[in-house]
Amino acid sequence: MPVLVPTTLDEAVSAMAADPDAMVLAGGTDTMVEVNAGHRRPSCVVVVNRVSEMRSWTYDPVAATVRIGAAVTYAELLEPPLATLLPALAEASRTVGSPQIRHAGTLGGNLGTCSPAGDGLPVLSALDAVVPLASTAGERSMSVHDFMVGVKRTAREPGELITAVTVPVLSGWQGYAKVGVRNAMVIALATACVAVDTASASVRLAIGSVGPTILRCAQAEAFAASAVDFAASSASADAVRRFAELAAAASHPIDDHRASAAYRRHAIGVLASRLLRRAFPNE
Ligand SMILES: Cc1cc2nc3c(=O)[nH]c(=O)nc-3n(C[C@H](O)[C@H](O)[C@H](O)COP(=O)(O)OP(=O)(O)OC[C@H]3O[C@@H](n4cnc5c(N)ncnc54)[C@H](O)[C@@H]3O)c2cc1C
Repeated sequence: MPVLVPTTLDEAVSAMAADPDAMVLAGGTDTMVEVNAGHRRPSCVVVVNRVSEMRSWTYDPVAATVRIGAAVTYAELLEPPLATLLPALAEASRTVGSPQIRHAGTLGGNLGTCSPAGDGLPVLSALDAVVPLASTAGERSMSVHDFMVGVKRTAREPGELITAVTVPVLSGWQGYAKVGVRNAMVIALATACVAVDTASASVRLAIGSVGPTILRCAQAEAFAASAVDFAASSASADAVRRFAELAAAASHPIDDHRASAAYRRHAIGVLASRLLRRAFPNE
């Protein structure tokens, strides 16, 4: 089985064109688990974590976006100034696995796996991130909402690479929280990201582990936008309670061996209310 280690994007997309079903490997924290368990027997492996274009990030202050290379690790997302620009992504990254996993695992890998429990994904959803994909045919970009198709299913075509994620920098508070059966090294039972954009007077809420993929909560968002006071950073206790109810109602959890659907739905309400209170601390 050939293992190719390109160092430029051109080399990487050429390698993918030669075998469009090659297994892309970034940090290997998902792929190697699958290979070791015998679930994947790739004909070829294309390693992307030495592709220079995918290893860095840039901030465009005019567009107010950050372009994060797909092979940027969680450990790097935790460091300022990136963590200051995208604090919810840093907060989510801090909850991923262990230090070893955070140093190897990448945001591109989180997107590539597209687990409903992926910690980076609710943040990318709440921030309306865009995913650029490259192949020898050129580059195309799509909204992260269109990219995430279902449980571990994405809109990536054979031969394509996720090159980066472009994330808008918003002007308000943002945060991430999750519930698991313990505090670390755990697959989340429920996750939530709240992102406030004071410029558009909007509140975004994305939830994970409670549906086939990450869900945005349109009703809770619309309610919050009309119920909170952006200037005073305040929300009434009733508003926080209603936001939590609408968030829980937007979830579509299942019963499984980790938790019941009822527990997960309740957890979403708790996470949503805590995050909204952190965003609007005054009553
Ligand atoms: C012990 C342990 C703990 C973990 N804890 C967490 C956790 O708390 N939260 C969490 O969200 N995840 C967790 N994970 C899962 C994993 O670490 C993350 O999903 C991580 O983001 C995967 O990144 P990676 O770079 O290792 O991806 P890889 O394993 O290299 O790849 C993952 C998938 O994405 C594809 N891929 C990777 N890069 C690209 C690219 N550029 N273009 C196209 N496809 C690509 C691969 O082909 C593969 O299908 C854990 C895993 C382990 C083993």
